[in-house]
Amino acid sequence: MLNSTLCELSAALERRAISSVELTRLFLDRVERLNGALNAFITVDAQRSLGEAHAADQVRAAGGAGPLTGIPVAHKDIFCTRGMLTTCGSKMLADFVSPYDAHVIERFASAGAVLLGKTNMDEFAMGSSSESSFFGPVRNPWDRARVPGGSSGGSAAAVAARLAPAATGTDTGGSIRQPAAFTGVCGLKPTYGVVSRYGMVAFASSLDQGGPMAKTAQDLALLMNVMGGHDARDSTSLARDAEDYTRELQTPLAGLRIGLPREYFGTGCAPHVLARVREAIAWFESQGAKLIDLALPNSGLALAAYYVIAPAEASSNLSRFDGVRYGHRARAYGDLADMYCRTRAEGFGAEVKRRILIGTYVLSHGYYDAYYLQAQKVRRLIARDFAAAFARCDVIMGPTAPSTAFPLGANADDPVQMYLNDIYTIPAPLSGLPALSIPCGFDGAGLPIGLQLTGSHFAEARLLGAAHRYQQATDWHLRVPAETPL
Ligand code: GLN
Repeated sequence: MLNSTLCELSAALERRAISSVELTRLFLDRVERLNGALNAFITVDAQRSLGEAHAADQVRAAGGAGPLTGIPVAHKDIFCTRGMLTTCGSKMLADFVSPYDAHVIERFASAGAVLLGKTNMDEFAMGSSSESSFFGPVRNPWDRARVPGGSSGGSAAAVAARLAPAATGTDTGGSIRQPAAFTGVCGLKPTYGVVSRYGMVAFASSLDQGGPMAKTAQDLALLMNVMGGHDARDSTSLARDAEDYTRELQTPLAGLRIGLPREYFGTGCAPHVLARVREAIAWFESQGAKLIDLALPNSGLALAAYYVIAPAEASSNLSRFDGVRYGHRARAYGDLADMYCRTRAEGFGAEVKRRILIGTYVLSHGYYDAYYLQAQKVRRLIARDFAAAFARCDVIMGPTAPSTAFPLGANADDPVQMYLNDIYTIPAPLSGLPALSIPCGFDGAGLPIGLQLTGSHFAEARLLGAAHRYQQATDWHLRVPAETPL
């Protein structure tokens, strides 16, 4: 059961091979046994989970079950969860119990899924290693001395170590895809506006997007059927008809046009990563896909633009943490200004402060035109590159990250080195495009490697279909870390 896909679990529940209570207990036991070593979860409430599982079993008995009814799902601790801690990995929210549910949480609840717990993450989703959490670093199940990637590292580690059959994450510059790549799982960042941001703690609002993480592309499609859809409470949520994300799973690969941007295959990428990615692409070619060389000439500017735009938006979004409304408040202070200063000095970690400083600087009078406005123009150029590329191809493929998982602490003193991890994942969110990471092999040290598939707006089903085909011919996605045997 622990290594089963959501489809298999759903079928097992339907034929009464197992009950949701039993299934939930199985995963809760595994979390209890392994979470000490991995630190993937911040909050687990076994009683609540088992209560939901019991309710799901009753729904099934009454004949009202859907595909996810009774299946435990873990949620990144960035999604507000009523009556439960929602910390966003920060001391600022270490005691915050949300009075309401995020849209995504509501959707999973009404689909009958069981909330398994809240997963650890980089503080306020800023990072690529899940080391900046106030609750301590997450460890990579493939090698506990290494990071699981970030910021959705807790969700990634939980799925990789089979502590959860599936999880949610959020992606602003790569936070679903890069940890998916580092831990050997699948992760999808949907088109901007497809998943409601209501109740998702805001980092950079024009980039943030929730998405699913699971073992297979088919599982991601099932999760997207629950997560996607219009929500009037998020003004950037798109009013579109409901989609069935499984609709292209059987689409043949023959004739699929795969774009290979030469910028993604350069010297910045570790050779063993490139080798596995090229092998995967060769497999697609062997199935009748056509390979098309192309250029994304402005992609070299993406990282710089992102690290202006994201901090700018973060500095504005995080102004709400002022010690007045909710969250941490300094114990001792003089006047109001002193209360703000002490609260924020105590409540935020170093990376969050760095972003607020950068963001405030680039938005300030006198620098706005030189940095923020310039970055917005670059953002548009990057989006145009993609538009031109998708006139010639259906899917863009390349590595998800330039390396495999690095050791804990390796980039701790060098933020720019840390930011370079996002080099391949940042262009998609800057352009609002959907992008998916799936496992495509291992390096010499046995660490997972991710293949990234990027599509034009609303091409999720197509990406998932191509990935599903690949996963029917490979088993990288079913391997389990030796440190966390089944
Ligand atoms: N690593 C990137 C950053 O630190 C992306 C984070 C994310 O996608 N939330 O901003």
